[in-house]
Amino acid sequence: MTNEQLWEATLGELELVLSKSSFNAWLDGTFIYKNENNNIAVGVPSDFHRHWIEAHCHQSILKALRRVSDEDIKTVTYQVATKNKKFIAETTRETPPAQHTTTPVQEPSSEAVRAVAQANDMPMSDFGLNPRYTFENFVVGKKNELAHAACLAVAENPGLVYNPLFIYGGVGLGKTHLMQAVGNTALKKNSRTKILYVSCETFTNEFIRSVGEGRAEQFKDKYRSVDILMVDDIQFLAGKEGTQEAFFHTFNHLHQNNKQVILTSDRPPRAIPTLEHRLISRFEGGMIVDVNIPDLETRIAILGQKCQEKNSPMNNEILQFIASSVQHNVRELEGALNRVIAWHQLNKTEPTLESVKQVLSSLSQTPKRGAVTTKKITSTVAEYFEIEQKDLTGNSRKKELVVPRQIAMFLMREEVHASYPNIGQELGGRDHTTAMHACQKIEQLKEEDEKISNDISLIKQRLYNS
Ligand code: ADP
Ligand code: MG
Repeated sequence: MTNEQLWEATLGELELVLSKSSFNAWLDGTFIYKNENNNIAVGVPSDFHRHWIEAHCHQSILKALRRVSDEDIKTVTYQVATKNKKFIAETTRETPPAQHTTTPVQEPSSEAVRAVAQANDMPMSDFGLNPRYTFENFVVGKKNELAHAACLAVAENPGLVYNPLFIYGGVGLGKTHLMQAVGNTALKKNSRTKILYVSCETFTNEFIRSVGEGRAEQFKDKYRSVDILMVDDIQFLAGKEGTQEAFFHTFNHLHQNNKQVILTSDRPPRAIPTLEHRLISRFEGGMIVDVNIPDLETRIAILGQKCQEKNSPMNNEILQFIASSVQHNVRELEGALNRVIAWHQLNKTEPTLESVKQVLSSLSQTPKRGAVTTKKITSTVAEYFEIEQKDLTGNSRKKELVVPRQIAMFLMREEVHASYPNIGQELGGRDHTTAMHACQKIEQLKEEDEKISNDISLIKQRLYNS
């Protein structure tokens, strides 16, 4: 396993145990800086990240590394470094933190940022609900209005309107927020409503444990006795046959009794690999809605909403700047805002356009997740359609390969403005006229064929969110 693979796998584990907001705000831009005989140094973007990670994530990181590595990981330390390995500061958990050189502007301490992100850390209720997710603080725009309307309707009449309700879309676009808002609203209306929110991972783990410990009945009772069951990120049922079976029976039981089921996923039911047909057809029997990347106007409104929640007003010009800097993921947008607020609180200044630019520029110096390139398009398209990259560049004329190949060409043109000869080259040395034809063809199909337009939008979300 290379260091890169090791860290990827570790992040995968951490994603399951940390709250999503923490995960995105603090682990983005981290990497394995050094690995000397299984003493690992993790590179983090700033001192301010280092403090926070040491205080909040160290044990989880250590555990995750030990779980995924086939080696015996000894220690984990953190140091401020960027991917080009420019060493900035170093410290370990075992020794007291070294004195750091002073920087012209002070980075916020962990407390300062925690205070800003405080809303993220509100205690969960027994039902798994986080009270911070409500309809009142969800900003509605063109790209999420249908999902919002469906959720509102379900919250008003659980079990009676859209059952199941299936919400899909890329990461950080508000699926969990909406789903939880349904739960919070239903509970407010009737405090006796039995609600259960779980991640698909929790559902799976509880199922497996219950079988292993001979408590299958208890599991059944727990999941079948609720009025509203919400399972988040149901795409993780892929490939888990036993759990799919358990879910199928749970689902049927609830559905037959007019109990509401709400599911989220990063893609529509049909696109979830190895999902049993009977489950797909159950999911499609209800209402399917998607959430998409919000436009600039909505992003500005979301920032405005978050500023209000955090009691930190900012002028429109600043909001516009932040909203233009972070385009593809609301969670990251919020992370950028938290950082701006914490920085200004610490430095006891009012945010100005200049100071905000400065704070966010240090953020953009941290290694960002890969920019979109023609290579990334090829791999993302192949992965999305579950085909080999060589099928995209190869000569087969099978429809299930031709369309993905044409979509890859179209995206290269649209997203990275590649030239037609270049596109032809990337896809197995094809002629530029082939590339041109493919782009025109997809342009047209996108209008006529809902599945293709859907595929393109989901591939785009993946391109920008991974
Ligand atoms: P997903 O489940 O789709 O990955 P989340 O629901 O966790 O995304 O949303 C990520 C963050 O962005 C949350 O903090 C959520 O409150 C916020 N968010 C997303 N969309 C909106 C919106 N339209 N209005 C307000 N906040 C939003
Ligand atoms: Mg979610």
